[in-house]
Amino acid sequence: MSAHTDASHEPLLRSWVASANQPGCDFPIQNLPLGRFRRAGSDEALRVGVAIGDHVLDLQLALERSPWPNGAAALLEPLAAGDLAGYMAMGRPAWRALRAALSAALAEGSETGPFLELCLLPQAQAEMALPCRIGDYTDFYTGIHHALAVGKLMRPDNPLLPNYKWLPVGYHGRASSITLGGPVKRPQGQTRSSGEMPHFGPSQRLDHELELGLWVGVGNELGAPVGMDRADDRLFGVTLLNDWSARDIQGWEYQPLGPFLAKNFSTMVSPWIVTFDALAPFRRPFTRPAGDPPPLPYLDSEANRAAGAVDITLEAWLQTARMREQGLPALRLSQSNALDAYWTPAQLVAHHTSNGCNLQTGDLLGTGTLSGAQPGQGGSLLELTAGGRQPLTLPDGERRTFLEDGDTVTLRAYCQAAGAVRIGLGSVSGTVLPA
Ligand code: MN
Repeated sequence: MSAHTDASHEPLLRSWVASANQPGCDFPIQNLPLGRFRRAGSDEALRVGVAIGDHVLDLQLALERSPWPNGAAALLEPLAAGDLAGYMAMGRPAWRALRAALSAALAEGSETGPFLELCLLPQAQAEMALPCRIGDYTDFYTGIHHALAVGKLMRPDNPLLPNYKWLPVGYHGRASSITLGGPVKRPQGQTRSSGEMPHFGPSQRLDHELELGLWVGVGNELGAPVGMDRADDRLFGVTLLNDWSARDIQGWEYQPLGPFLAKNFSTMVSPWIVTFDALAPFRRPFTRPAGDPPPLPYLDSEANRAAGAVDITLEAWLQTARMREQGLPALRLSQSNALDAYWTPAQLVAHHTSNGCNLQTGDLLGTGTLSGAQPGQGGSLLELTAGGRQPLTLPDGERRTFLEDGDTVTLRAYCQAAGAVRIGLGSVSGTVLPA
């Protein structure tokens, strides 16, 4: 079970990389997330690195230039070659073994510190790439407060559809348009205002969705479902995920088969995969409000009840072009927590494979928009502006219902708990360009 903690989570552990010990740092030695990179401006082959403080430990150089304990060198080989997927496919015993070796090597007083100091690159000088080839991308709908708020806008008397509390609703998204952030071109599409002829043109209701992305490590054979007892061990780690959404296109096209062009023009993920092993101190019991149906047996397990949920605080921030010009910092639009998700990561894997569907290494599962029940906890503008009816007023006096050209949306997330060192997921930013 991934709630297992060990010496690598020890709160007193510090790194010889000084920036990793700064309070509030996303990447202390207790985190050790992996990502693919090369030196910015170079045409080097991509390799995998570990984020530590404001640096990246280059695992290609680290394998060449530093001694490693027995076994660790073999685990580093695919990473040195830039093959994060090859490592993700090795499974939890390998992930834990390398995490322990990296933790020891980066810890204060490590004998290999002097070798590894030469293998660091400031993150500001790293050009990041997607962690691996993403074969398939599925987006779920686990945020019950999002589902309720959106449902109320569309069906005031019947906001939550009857399947919601029985199965994790999802749709198959598109992997080809997933990026690490940067520009998002306002999509064109077909929309219809009530009673009018359909119209083709730039979306007028462009929105963000604050989600987590879950990365599949170990896949399953076609026809071989993954039961709840093994589901957690299939998941390698998490990133942030922004599921850009054109609400006007969505509203017209989504029935009866679900989202299509309203969603597949862009999805963004943060570059560093925070492993489920790093999240161990932040696992929490999975609970349901009194009176809600218990999950069916194939979506239930003792381990899931004990520690299936994960405590991750999520935030969305907005900076408009005018705020940028005036030197105003981004405004926090929302703050929510993944504990409010109605389904756990293990349940998503068990349900996705329950019909025999095969997940593969590098597949990406979006949680769906993670919102809280309170105002200011909506993970999308659709919720924060009540479907565009209640505009937000920004610090410079501008108003927003949906996103305008030049707006930058940044997602951030972090984990904080008593007895554990805070770890962060980093961030992902996208800026809207004209259609
Ligand atoms: Mn979504």
